[in-house]
Amino acid sequence: MPLVVQKYGGTSVASLDRIRSVAKQVVARHKEGNQVVVVVSAMAGETNRLIDLALSASSKPDMREYDALVATGEQVTSALLALILRSMGVEARSFLGHQVRIVTNNASSKARILRIEADRLRKILNRGWIAVVAGFQGVDEEGNITTLGRGGSDTTAVALASALRADRCEIFTDVEGVYTTDPGICPNARKLSKISYDEMLEMASLGAKVLQTRSVEFAKRYQIPVEVKSSLVNRPGTLVTVEDPSMENILVSGVTYDRNEAKVTILKVPDRPGVAAKIFAPLMDANISVDMIIQNVSTKGYTDLTFTVAKSDLSLALEIIQRLASQIGAKDVIADKGIAKVSIIGLGMRSHAGVASKMFQSLARAGINIQMISTSEIKISCVIDEKYTELAVRVLHDAFELGNLPRPRSKTGKKKSR
Ligand code: ADP
Ligand code: ASP
Ligand code: MG
Repeated sequence: MPLVVQKYGGTSVASLDRIRSVAKQVVARHKEGNQVVVVVSAMAGETNRLIDLALSASSKPDMREYDALVATGEQVTSALLALILRSMGVEARSFLGHQVRIVTNNASSKARILRIEADRLRKILNRGWIAVVAGFQGVDEEGNITTLGRGGSDTTAVALASALRADRCEIFTDVEGVYTTDPGICPNARKLSKISYDEMLEMASLGAKVLQTRSVEFAKRYQIPVEVKSSLVNRPGTLVTVEDPSMENILVSGVTYDRNEAKVTILKVPDRPGVAAKIFAPLMDANISVDMIIQNVSTKGYTDLTFTVAKSDLSLALEIIQRLASQIGAKDVIADKGIAKVSIIGLGMRSHAGVASKMFQSLARAGINIQMISTSEIKISCVIDEKYTELAVRVLHDAFELGNLPRPRSKTGKKKSR
């Protein structure tokens, strides 16, 4: 019997009425002859409320207790959905992360799934029951509750789909699929019928919050077809799948933005071997990921070093860097939270020239200054002043004609120059 994992996000379970309509959709899928596992998020706004509560209780919360608190939103919705399903006469059981068991490392608030012991779920499914799983949460080897980072229910769903060797994973959300950019800020955004794992990975990691990055990593590694679709209208969504030859012709397939990073600059760093290692190793030890890094040309034996980290890691990063700066003899450390990163993504960039200059020119024409740049085979990112985020996204979306059909294609494989 085919096995389907469905995930419903916060707006899809925002009220009892919404949970009732989710229950109807789940039952319909079950009646079609599928085994069904449903992963639910907390009700819309609930995780934010819980985070605010934690931060009001303690300005520097103990992260074990923080996770124990913020994981509760999903406990409520999973139990409510199971209750409603049972009141409809359908056999269903809810499971928390530790009941499944979804085992993670101990990195509170950004834990990574190590393994899923899915025997209990399998037994339930083999009895013909529906399994409802609380998203976003796991348990570490010591039995502490952990959470998987914002948007983590997507990862719960895809990880369960891979552990259970599901035939399909369906992510229900408040938009009809993956768009060329966030339809919330660009009315002209166009829904994609298909996107490759690699492009989706870039889009997610560069800020398109429609799927959490880790969920796409799981999908790619275990080749799980993931469909992103609306829980409100019954229309085909976007299939995230393996790359096919038609996708390679697409120069730029999407524009993303990320307002969750902050920029740190260390001024007048002595320019000698080992200094970069001295700066970045303690950040890594503290589980802080550094994204973009720029080191300026050295003058008179000194250089400036700029890098970005998640805003949520900024205060810890500053604590570490300020301590280090005096040890290595740097002059000062400055932080800037008012930045955003805008990016363009496309498999076609691998073999086409001129994409970067078009991006820079379009931003320049709109009067937007670029503070940092980074490129890879299939993306270009620019850090800009946060206040220009929406303008930059729309300008780039227009420049690469993403809202208009047919999509821009080029058959001439010019030399890459980015
Ligand atoms: P859920 O609560 O269902 O998990 P999220 O808010 O996490 O929903 O993700 C859906 C939101 O992602 C959309 O409402 C949209 O504003 C945003 N988004 C950003 N970029 C994209 C994109 N390229 N395609 C679709 N949605 C996007
Ligand atoms: N409720 C969590 C969040 O808001 C997880 C999720 O919705 O995926 O981030
Ligand atoms: Mg989400």
